[in-house]
Amino acid sequence: MKIFHLSAECYPVAKVGGLGDVVGALPKYLNQAGHHASVAMPFYDRKFTREHEFDIVFEGSTRLGHTRYEFQVLKEKTDVLGFELFLIKAPGLLDRENVYSYPDETEQFVFFQLAFLDWIYWSQQTPDVIHCHDHHSGLIPFLMYHSALYKRLANIPTVLTIHNGQYHGAFGWDKSYYLPEIDTTQQGLLDWRGGINPLASAVKCAWKFSTVSPSYLHELTIKSNGLEYLFYTEYKKGVGIINGIDTQIWDPATDPMLVKNYTPKTVEAGKKKNKEELCTRFNLSTDKPLFSFIGRLVDEKGADLLPEIIRICLDKQDDQLNFLILGSGDTEVELALLELQQQFPQNCAVYIGYNEELAHHVYAGSDFLLMPSRVEPCGLNQLYSLRYGTVPIVRNTGGLKDSIVDFGDEGGYGIKFNNIRSEEATYAVGRALDLYKNTAHLKQIRQTMMALDFSWDKSAKEYITLYESLKLQ
Ligand code: ADP
Repeated sequence: MKIFHLSAECYPVAKVGGLGDVVGALPKYLNQAGHHASVAMPFYDRKFTREHEFDIVFEGSTRLGHTRYEFQVLKEKTDVLGFELFLIKAPGLLDRENVYSYPDETEQFVFFQLAFLDWIYWSQQTPDVIHCHDHHSGLIPFLMYHSALYKRLANIPTVLTIHNGQYHGAFGWDKSYYLPEIDTTQQGLLDWRGGINPLASAVKCAWKFSTVSPSYLHELTIKSNGLEYLFYTEYKKGVGIINGIDTQIWDPATDPMLVKNYTPKTVEAGKKKNKEELCTRFNLSTDKPLFSFIGRLVDEKGADLLPEIIRICLDKQDDQLNFLILGSGDTEVELALLELQQQFPQNCAVYIGYNEELAHHVYAGSDFLLMPSRVEPCGLNQLYSLRYGTVPIVRNTGGLKDSIVDFGDEGGYGIKFNNIRSEEATYAVGRALDLYKNTAHLKQIRQTMMALDFSWDKSAKEYITLYESLKLQ
């Protein structure tokens, strides 16, 4: 099958979070399973695009409202990522350094979608499936089926995967002139509560949609930033497929970003060495358990609770434990964390920013990984942490619920708590502290975690089954 993935992110070209990891890995595993999967994404002016060579495979121009933009489709020459990578480049719109947060984000992503459709239409391509990821490509299904311009594409099946249902990419009907001529009798399919809502439209128009964990599919009917009723009515069209991890990149035995590589056999010594280096770098002592957090400092991740959790733990357990935070986001949270670092310089270290290499080192050098998430569609951090022998402490929600078994339960290995309250999180930290003191038990749990298989092989098969089910529709 020929599958086109459309995404705003793809590791290592441009990654902001889990979406990048998934789109950088799933196509590779689909290809290894004998399919032909490619990725199309906007061009970004970043390290990857500067350091790799590209062929121009298409040149065109597309109108966005009253402005016509020239664009090129560039293909990475060597398929170095394990799949064909196509970048859509348009001076002034799709040639920027960052992925998100531009004031004209609507124009940026609408244009990306129109240019993609123009390209496959005029170059006579007929993929078996067009797989859209999140709202950035959410208008594609509607446009393929309800714009006279792309009639030839109307029989191609589309799938939407929702990595984050909180963001919809919505914009007002006053910008509808950005879209090409559409069948106005169907324009309700673009609408949600009086605006054009690309995520809602894709849920309505794609042949099937998936969420990145089974629990998240259900949770979207309860909490999805205003789309709850839509998910409730379209529930049967959805399927939950838990993300995998790219075990070629995320492997403590070969990861070049670690200070020392290790296998399940050498995990104790390997983690010790990584922890020593990490603690030295951040002025923390190595003889205490290290609790880390990696991620966006936003409410979804429960980051607003972190300062309180850390303060309670450090007040209560005084000098028994250390915290390390890597992330950026809400200014208030960043400032509160930096203040804690000042107050407890020997027990709390904070790195504000994004640092891929440091993240790998933190997974390897920490004893516990904190994830007090309010919403977690899948969560990859806990999967990386398992693979690196680091015990995840997670709130029981979404993909965390589906992937972590509490060590108090049979065959368990992680630590779970139910409610998003700092008392429950600190109680979980207390349990972790007890586990840390029981060296034999901790060693056994590390072995259990590292033997788990969360590789893409299994989840890619579920996507193939999903694609094949479309042929029968
Ligand atoms: P999200 O909701 O942010 O997509 P996921 O758990 O799905 O969360 O994926 C997060 C990914 O981003 C992981 O690969 C994690 O290691 C990485 N990440 C998040 N924040 C940072 C950071 N500040 N520095 C480096 N990597 C980060």
